[in-house]
Amino acid sequence: MELQGQVAVVTGASRGIGRAIAEELARGGARVVVNYRQDTAEAEAVAAAIGGLAVQADVSTTEGAAHLAAAAEALGPVAILVNNAGITRDGLVIQLGDEDWDQVMAVNAGGPFRVARAMLPPMISRRSGVIINIASVAALRTSQGQANYAASKAALIALTRGMAREVAKRRIRVNAVAPGFIETAMTEVLPDRVLAEAKAAIPMRRFGQPEEVAPLVRFLCGPGAAYITGQLFPVDGGLSL
Ligand code: NAP
Repeated sequence: MELQGQVAVVTGASRGIGRAIAEELARGGARVVVNYRQDTAEAEAVAAAIGGLAVQADVSTTEGAAHLAAAAEALGPVAILVNNAGITRDGLVIQLGDEDWDQVMAVNAGGPFRVARAMLPPMISRRSGVIINIASVAALRTSQGQANYAASKAALIALTRGMAREVAKRRIRVNAVAPGFIETAMTEVLPDRVLAEAKAAIPMRRFGQPEEVAPLVRFLCGPGAAYITGQLFPVDGGLSL
């Protein structure tokens, strides 16, 4: 229970990897804010199961980020922020619409920026805090039709490093985790052919589960990671090798 009593915010925690992270941080003793955008019933069920608080907010907007920060502070000072919310809008570059580019950048890179910007000032005042950004192996290893997604996650990795440098002297750590293929709603929609090719490319020859990403996030939030900042940690069955 190394996170006992700490307030943790997990964005996009109504399902998938975010949900598993919220549950894992709660097992570590944290009081978790379960952020979501659309599905209130799903998010409230997750929050109820872990004694947390569901907060609706679109993290891609400045207003949404400010609302999330204010709602979370009602539980107490936020010690941990996990920027997990993310989307895909796959397509070949020549076929992508402006919306496909703008939305993916706005949620995957703009969201972590806006939420961190809203939550960092009190962390800086308290000289303590942890931010974990959920990036993707897609930023390291390209795949057909995901250039916009890869660009957004590469931006998130660069944001992680830049923020880590800026806030290190205030005793705030910022790290990124890069999942490979994890079985969630995001990957469920992919065609069978793409899934088969992806599995064949993974040295461990299987997809991962959200519960195989969450323990690393918990570790990075805790005292065992006290001297680790600005780093990227793949959890991908060897896909990025
Ligand atoms: P998922 O099952 O689709 O869940 C995404 C979550 O993000 C949902 O709770 C969704 O809620 C929320 N969300 C989306 N846009 C939001 C917004 N603007 N504001 C607030 N919440 C928002 O996805 P996942 O597979 O668990 O992915 C989680 C993270 O891991 C993402 O950043 C993704 O890019 C990354 N990742 C996933 C994989 C994978 O293989 N699954 C691999 C690498 C990286 P609503 O539905 O209500 O919008």
